[in-house]
Amino acid sequence: MPSATDPRALPEEVEVAIVGAGPAGLAAATRLRERGVASVAVLDREPAAGGIPRHCGHFPFGLREFHRLLRGPDYASRLVARAAAAGAAIHTGTTVVGIAPGPRLLLSTAGGRGELAARRVLLATGVRETSRASRLIGGDRPLGVVSTGALQSLVYLGGKRPFQRPLILGTELVSFSALLTCRHAGMRPVAMVEANPRMTARRFAAALPRLFGVPLHLSTEIAAIHGRRRVEGVTLRRADGGTFELPCDGVVVTGAFTPEATLARLGGLDLDPGTGGPVIDQFGRCSDPAFFAAGNLLRPVETAGWSWQEGVAAGDVLAESLAGRLVPAGRLVRVFADHRAIKLALPQRLALPAHRDGMARLQLRLARPVRGSLVMRDVGGEIWRQRLDGLPERRILVPLAGFIDRISGDTLTLSIDETA
Ligand SMILES: Cc1cc2nc3c(=O)[nH]c(=O)nc-3n(C[C@H](O)[C@H](O)[C@H](O)COP(=O)(O)OP(=O)(O)OC[C@H]3O[C@@H](n4cnc5c(N)ncnc54)[C@H](O)[C@@H]3O)c2cc1C
Repeated sequence: MPSATDPRALPEEVEVAIVGAGPAGLAAATRLRERGVASVAVLDREPAAGGIPRHCGHFPFGLREFHRLLRGPDYASRLVARAAAAGAAIHTGTTVVGIAPGPRLLLSTAGGRGELAARRVLLATGVRETSRASRLIGGDRPLGVVSTGALQSLVYLGGKRPFQRPLILGTELVSFSALLTCRHAGMRPVAMVEANPRMTARRFAAALPRLFGVPLHLSTEIAAIHGRRRVEGVTLRRADGGTFELPCDGVVVTGAFTPEATLARLGGLDLDPGTGGPVIDQFGRCSDPAFFAAGNLLRPVETAGWSWQEGVAAGDVLAESLAGRLVPAGRLVRVFADHRAIKLALPQRLALPAHRDGMARLQLRLARPVRGSLVMRDVGGEIWRQRLDGLPERRILVPLAGFIDRISGDTLTLSIDETA
């Protein structure tokens, strides 16, 4: 696999350039080569390809892709091997620092700067967790406050144990990934803390704290972190305003993901404030139609298997686009979420008429528990309605085939009728 520390090792021009060698980017690269696309380059800033799973030394990865349960690093290696065997060129140690119409990519490696032209670009840059600072947690600034990603790098890639008795903030799926990482390294978390009255993750993960004897504090937030040099404890605040102290020697700030959309923003692509990712149509096509997006860059946050599947679909769409068979970005319908309980909806635009490739379903997430009906309206009034009984952060999927051919006008409004 080429490692492009010298930018001269990179080609000057390829059919498709893919930014990000995680499950989505690697799946797309494999698919593109399987579809006969001549030159596919995958670029990643990390020293090795594989994306986030490379750092997750625990199960379960790979069921959808390899029909077996794998640890993250084994899963990542298999994805890399499959893409390389298909003939994709994977360039690690290569950061894409800019995108421009053409399309063109501006690259930075340890050996200098470079430029790459492509007929199409797929952005598959994933998500990151939001930091302590952006969650407005007060107190001291001692060592020992880390994200799950940093914890996993330290433990699985660095063989380190940064603390013994940390507190885990959050109850998303990734929070349990942090819990498993702590267990793997022999650390015993003092507690898990969740600001909401119920856990965010599904029930199977929710059993883990009890199983491992880790107390769970719901409706509780971190009021302050204490410690002069290293973390010594936290002040926790319950929903009723009462506070209590909990000694610990580290804090793992988990989840609250945000798409890694810096390149899309710098490149002037339209962004969606709901998802935090680029605005796309059902083909993953961005506001500049030479750029496409797939994987967790589209929204926070899905599993590796889901992102991989989106990568495969993106490979098909890109192959169709290169062959001139994709519906032109002609008639575009804007998907507009007109209810505060709808946290995000994607794709944000629908290109008509419909085409067999691309996303088959609209993806929605709620900001709070909702019971009622999900309603779609266009210029002529209501065109679709379905019962909705949903929880925050759970995947809600609506088949496009149920309504796409009925849309008239240029806006599809999504709403929730809570009285139904
Ligand atoms: C800390 C953490 C733990 C997680 N744990 C799990 C888990 O246990 N199970 C699970 O199913 N999911 C987990 N996830 C979700 C994870 O996002 C998906 O599993 C999956 O990795 C998404 O694939 P992707 O290809 O979209 O992005 P990623 O796997 O994130 O890959 C994106 C790649 O893009 C590269 N990149 C970004 N910007 C640039 C740039 N400018 N130039 C070059 N390269 C760039 C990155 O280096 C990275 O390798 C976790 C996520 C995080 C952040």
